[in-house]
Amino acid sequence: MSSTCTRCGKQRVVIKTWTEIVGTAKITRTENECPDLECQKAVNSGIARQKHQRDIQEKEKQQRELERLNLKRNIS
Ligand SMILES: [Zn+2]
Repeated sequence: MSSTCTRCGKQRVVIKTWTEIVGTAKITRTENECPDLECQKAVNSGIARQKHQRDIQEKEKQQRELERLNLKRNIS
């Protein structure tokens, strides 16, 4: 299975191949990367940034929820 880079559209290259046993079936998995090192770095940092932002949003959500619960407790 081949894929193209979502950032630059170049044909991605296989950097790793391994097999996994799922039930009774043996499946081959591959990991692809962009042949352009700078592009792959940008893709990786983009993924990291997205994850970081999700973490922050999740924390803020929990914080708001906590404040909401505290407020309720103070009123009653
Ligand atoms: Zn690329």
